[in-house]
Amino acid sequence: MLKSATQFIILTTALCKITTGAISIVLDYSYDTGSYFSDERKYIAEQAAYAFESRLQSESFGHLDPAQYGSSLNFYVSTKNPTSMANLQMNPANATSDGNKFGDENKIVILMGAKSVGTTNQYLAVANSGFGYSGVNDGTFLNYWQNTRNSTSNFDSVGGSISFNSSYTFYDDTDLTTHTDATTSGLPDFYSVMVHEIGHIMGFSNVWDAWNNNLSGNNWTGTNGKAAYSNQNVPMDAASKSHFGTLNTSHIGCACHPSMNTTSPNNTRRGFSELDFALLKDIGYNVSSSPQGTNIGGTYEDPSLGGNFFIPVEQSYSAWLSGGSGGGGGGSASAAPEPAVVFPLLGIATFGILYMRNRKTAKDSEASLSESV
Ligand SMILES: [Zn+2]
Repeated sequence: MLKSATQFIILTTALCKITTGAISIVLDYSYDTGSYFSDERKYIAEQAAYAFESRLQSESFGHLDPAQYGSSLNFYVSTKNPTSMANLQMNPANATSDGNKFGDENKIVILMGAKSVGTTNQYLAVANSGFGYSGVNDGTFLNYWQNTRNSTSNFDSVGGSISFNSSYTFYDDTDLTTHTDATTSGLPDFYSVMVHEIGHIMGFSNVWDAWNNNLSGNNWTGTNGKAAYSNQNVPMDAASKSHFGTLNTSHIGCACHPSMNTTSPNNTRRGFSELDFALLKDIGYNVSSSPQGTNIGGTYEDPSLGGNFFIPVEQSYSAWLSGGSGGGGGGSASAAPEPAVVFPLLGIATFGILYMRNRKTAKDSEASLSESV
C-alpha cells in the first residue's frame, strides 16, 4: 500500500516538472486594504511586471507545494502585509482572497499595498520576500527546493510583497509611451520604483545562494554581469550587497542607468536595463535578448548616457480598462513638488536551524529579505 502510494507520488512529481514556460507575475491586491492602488497605479504596476514577463517567456519552474512532491513539510513564502507591514506566511496550498496561490508553476505572486511612513530619510517603497519551512523531510520537495529553485546556480523567485510609502507623491501618468514628462515632473517616478522593487523580488538579494555565489566581496563576478560591464567585475553596494555600487558609466554596455541602484532620484525614469538583466541571467534566469510578445512601448533614451531602455507596454491604459482589468477610475498624481529623496535602509534577516527528530530529518529554516529604494 505504501509502495504504490509512493510510486504514484513519484509519477505526480514527474508530471509537475513538465512546464510550458513563460513566467507570469501576478500582482495581488488582497492586502491593499487602504485602497492605494487605483486603476492608474494598477495599470502602471502591471506594465512594470510586463517588462520582466516579456523577457522571461522561455523561463519555467515548478510548483512549491510540498504535498505535490509527496512531502508533509510545511513550506511558506515569508513576506509582509504591504499595508500593515505585519509578518505574513503564505502557504502555497492556500489562495489569497484574490484567488492567487504562492508557488504555482511559472507564477510569481506579489502582494501590493502602501503604508505612510513619512518622508524624513524614508524609503519610497520596500519589497519583502523570503521563505521558511518546518517539519519532517519526507519527500522529494526539499531536494527540489535546494537543488533547483534555490541552488548555488539557480534561483527562481518565490514572490513576496511590495509596499509603497504613500507619504510620497509619485509621478504616475498612465501613458508610458511618452516618457519625457516623467523627467520634468519634479517627482519620483512610480513606474521606475515599481520596476526596481520587482527586481528585488526576482532575486536581487543576498538571501539567495545563487546571488551570493556571484559575489566576491563587494564585486559581482558573474559572467553575464561582467559581459555587460566591459568584462570588469561589477561594483556592488557594500551595505546591502543587493544593489549596484558606484559604477563607472563608461563600462556600462547599455549606456544607461540601471534600475538597481541605491537611489531613484526625482525626474528620472529607469527601466530594467541590460546590466540589471545580466545579473538575473547569472542567477539562472533564461532571459530573451529583447522583449517578446505584444509590445507597444518601445525604447527610452537615457538623457545623460545616451543608451536605451526598453519600456515594453502590453496594452494601452484605455485598452486595459475596456478589457475588464480595471474598474472605475480613481488615482491621481498631484503636481506638488517633493524634496530630493534619500533611500536608506536595507534590513536583511537570515537564520536557520537544523535538528534531528524521531530518526527522520526534521528541518526548520527561514530566510527573508527586506529591500528598500
Ligand atoms: Zn532596492
